[in-house]
Amino acid sequence: MTYPRVLVWTPTLYELGFKQHHIDGEALAVQASLQAAGYDSVLLDAYYRGRPAASLAAALADGEPFDVVVAHLFTSDTYGPRLRAIADELRDARRGHGVTVIGFGPLAVSAADDLAAHGAVDEIVAAAAYATALPGQLSVARRRSDDPVQALVDHLGRHLAVHTPLDNLGEADLGYRPDAVVSVTASRGCRSRCKFCAYNADLPGGGWVDLPIRAAVADIAFLHQRLGATAFAFTDSDFGGTQPDCTRRAAELRAAVRDAGLSGAVTFAISVRPETLTAASIEMLAEAGVRTMLIGVESFNPDTLHRLYGKRQDLAHLQHVVAVADAAGVTVVGSYILWHPWQTLPGLAAEIAALDEFGRYRVPQFMARSRLHVVPGTVIERQIRNAGLLDERPFHRAFRIADPAAAALNADLQHWFTTNAAPVIDGLHERQPEVFHQIGALKTAEWAWLTGQVTDRLQTATHG
Ligand code: SF4
Repeated sequence: MTYPRVLVWTPTLYELGFKQHHIDGEALAVQASLQAAGYDSVLLDAYYRGRPAASLAAALADGEPFDVVVAHLFTSDTYGPRLRAIADELRDARRGHGVTVIGFGPLAVSAADDLAAHGAVDEIVAAAAYATALPGQLSVARRRSDDPVQALVDHLGRHLAVHTPLDNLGEADLGYRPDAVVSVTASRGCRSRCKFCAYNADLPGGGWVDLPIRAAVADIAFLHQRLGATAFAFTDSDFGGTQPDCTRRAAELRAAVRDAGLSGAVTFAISVRPETLTAASIEMLAEAGVRTMLIGVESFNPDTLHRLYGKRQDLAHLQHVVAVADAAGVTVVGSYILWHPWQTLPGLAAEIAALDEFGRYRVPQFMARSRLHVVPGTVIERQIRNAGLLDERPFHRAFRIADPAAAALNADLQHWFTTNAAPVIDGLHERQPEVFHQIGALKTAEWAWLTGQVTDRLQTATHG
């Protein structure tokens, strides 16, 4: 079988001046996996912005032709205008250079219909169950098993279930600065099934796949030695899996870091479900070098959490986790969804009071941006559509708020944000001194405005 020549492309997924030095470790792993399998593969990393990268069109026009582009699309945050711009580039690549485009990653799967209808992709690497549900624009089911592109799609599908060592990567793949934040993978998928989430979209068979921690730490040691990198972020959506697995993995991480001689030399961020954490596992994670835990708090309203978001979160346990993490020197960063289609003024007042008690500073989002991000293929997308509250067109999903008072406040908050915060944020860059102080001051001003408005409007609604 002839092996197609492959360009692995990781596009710029965020446009603001932040996350400039993040490295998409999954793209590194795909590149390592393809090279190990005998493909002539080149990595074009535009996600990392610490140095200039060629455009996709320029890379395809330069030198020996490529047969296939593998586009790594992973974060749902990119769904919207940014993904549309990426889709334009991919469509032009297919038309102008005759390449086959394979979409890879959870976003590629959840946005498969949009991408296919736009003429941006030929194939999507996905669980078989999803691939059969695609609308027909894709040729997933039509290729012969000995077709070289099908072989590549199959290879990428198998890659999802295994760990790929990075130690075959060469100089051309590793042109990064030592201050980069490198993502590494030590599990795939999530045991939870939040109704708004598409991060399980590409996992064959669903569920959670436990990848070996020691192998991930071997990659970390390799990247530390080759790049001088000291900051690593596990891309795992659900680092722990279950409480026993999390305890075991925390112990393994601590031991592997120590055995690799990296104790004190590297730090980690993890995304983790609080239910999987105990005091003992948090302390082991802290000893391993975990300094930040990203936790999906999402709401302090149990009804919103359980009925609307399908999220089983024990709020008392969450408070315990935060207290232990504080004591262990681990910063808890929470994601939060204040605005959803069924929000009300009393609901806002309760959420704001609970958020105040939890610590507003633990939630990095502006409240104007603390919104349900609707992405295709999710349960909540269907529910909002069924309720007649969804605005949809290609590369666009937005919800309307059913309650007029909450909708009016949301509109006013968006105006406040557009007038006061957006012009400042657009001009900021993570390298500027005082940048986080400036953002903090804006968040404080927004919080004061919002809490005052909620109080006033509730009083008016109650007493006239
Ligand atoms: S816990 Fe996080 S990754 Fe898991 S389903 Fe919910 S939102 Fe998705």
